[in-house]
Amino acid sequence: MRDPLETPIRMTNKQIAAIFYEVADLLEIKSVTFKPVAYRRAAHVIETLQEDITSINERGKLEDIPGVGIHIAAKIREIIGTGKLAYLEKLKKEIPKGVLELAEIEGIGPKKALILSRQLGITNKEELKEAAKAQKIRDLPGFGEKSEKNILLSIQTMKGTGRRFLLGDILPVAEKIKRRLADLPQTQQISLAGSIRRRKETIGDVDILAASAEPEKIMTEFCTLPEIDRILGKGPTKSSIVLTSGVQVDLRVVDKDQYWTALQYFTGSKAHNIAMRRRALDRNWRLNEYGVTDLFTGKKLHGQTEQDLYRMLDLRYIEPEMREDRGEIEAAINGTLPEIVPYDAVKGDLHVHSSWSGGKHTIKELAEAAKAYGYEYIAICDHAWNPQTPHGLDEGAIAKQQKEIEQANRDLDGIVVLTGIECSIDTEGNLDIGNKLLGDLDVVVASVHSGLNMPKSGMTKRVLAALHNDRVDILGHPTGRIIQQRDPVQLDLPAVFDAAAELGVALEINAFPARLDLSDTNCKMAREHGARFSIGSDAHTRDNLGFMELGIATARRGWLEDKDIINTLHLQDLLMVLES
Ligand SMILES: [Zn+2]
Ligand SMILES: [Zn+2]
Repeated sequence: MRDPLETPIRMTNKQIAAIFYEVADLLEIKSVTFKPVAYRRAAHVIETLQEDITSINERGKLEDIPGVGIHIAAKIREIIGTGKLAYLEKLKKEIPKGVLELAEIEGIGPKKALILSRQLGITNKEELKEAAKAQKIRDLPGFGEKSEKNILLSIQTMKGTGRRFLLGDILPVAEKIKRRLADLPQTQQISLAGSIRRRKETIGDVDILAASAEPEKIMTEFCTLPEIDRILGKGPTKSSIVLTSGVQVDLRVVDKDQYWTALQYFTGSKAHNIAMRRRALDRNWRLNEYGVTDLFTGKKLHGQTEQDLYRMLDLRYIEPEMREDRGEIEAAINGTLPEIVPYDAVKGDLHVHSSWSGGKHTIKELAEAAKAYGYEYIAICDHAWNPQTPHGLDEGAIAKQQKEIEQANRDLDGIVVLTGIECSIDTEGNLDIGNKLLGDLDVVVASVHSGLNMPKSGMTKRVLAALHNDRVDILGHPTGRIIQQRDPVQLDLPAVFDAAAELGVALEINAFPARLDLSDTNCKMAREHGARFSIGSDAHTRDNLGFMELGIATARRGWLEDKDIINTLHLQDLLMVLES
């Protein structure tokens, strides 16, 4: 028998590329010129090779790979033979501990981190803070009083609470602050940035980026907002505040000519930006928040918008919601990037509760509000009665409600009210309303509301049974999760997605802020299984109709296009889908 330790470690192209990327980063910290570019170029070529690099090595053709000279070829052979690279280990030992951590701090970067470490022996954030307070940093080469202050500000305003807020709670507040700053004559451009711009379902803090030639005025306005609890730091180009709700908001102001790359940089995600930077390096450009620099000529490349930047890198524009390094850059290269659903594409809400089952507003009030959103239709889907839902509608009440909807449709102009119901799926997969009556309704949503702790096999069987009921149009909040409160139910998602696709049942994206169910990643997976979707606000009041935006954001993060979502259809086309 072979000793497993003697088995050569089979290194993948990706692993070898990762080693060279790390070498490049460490060389950059050491201020070595040109070599980092060479290592990154080789790493990039290796990770995009079609053929396994070990087989190229076996054929003795490593040097034929573009960007791989004799030195790098020797290193590749070493990695293939030993699983590691002595040169990298040596570099790691030469870089003092903590330098990488320091380099991450805004305004420092690798070179300054090394100076701080070498000259002052600083190895972490705390020591850096003490040194800045003691005014020891200003005299170092390449620093000054201003950068010392900025470092202190960066540390003071570093994210620390770890508390996360629901997108739906924070987005309206953030938009309001943004609008207020946008109204100032000094503001040339302004946008939300960071995770809130990418519309992540939970937000740690709010980032806002503005362009201005007179940042002081904007900073003063920002630091005197009525919602402020305390100011963490106020500087000429960056300030951080905490609102009474506990949310931290950071505002950065940059020059107008840096805005395009700064916006891309501060929008993230980090992983997406790393991929973008690598793509820039392939062209021998350095991309960071300050701009795009040609590394050979040292000259800045010019652009105005994020669109310009993606175009320069030969990529189709990638919407912020997709910038999560989930394959979007590859898709933008291959031409397979989806045309994700625009925010104004939804033509109606298919999950709304009225005062008939615990909602606040009447059918007419809801319909008027829906009309104001520009919708063509709204489906009233009150709860069906069962012992756990005593405020729900029994068969008699449903018949009465249908009459009221008929009357509403006669009275209203420019909006159509659809009849509907939200049934509960019992533990056997049955619904709480008979199929005959369900056949009379336009929209049937079926949801799991109780018995949420069933084991996976039972829960899957239960949901599949409901999907096989041909009266069911939409599977409501499919996983039952409540963000930060309740885990999703145990469900064989691929099986459910396949069945939904085959049976023509739409999967709901429930837009209620704490639900967002299906989640973004589940949407993406379900789309790959060929499923269709319905976005519903699950509104219990007129104002809740506005949650739709969060559902669309989730759909966009899940790469969904108009054609994947049934309520982007005009009324007549939607009715055909619902009837089939
Ligand atoms: Zn429900
Ligand atoms: Zn509901």
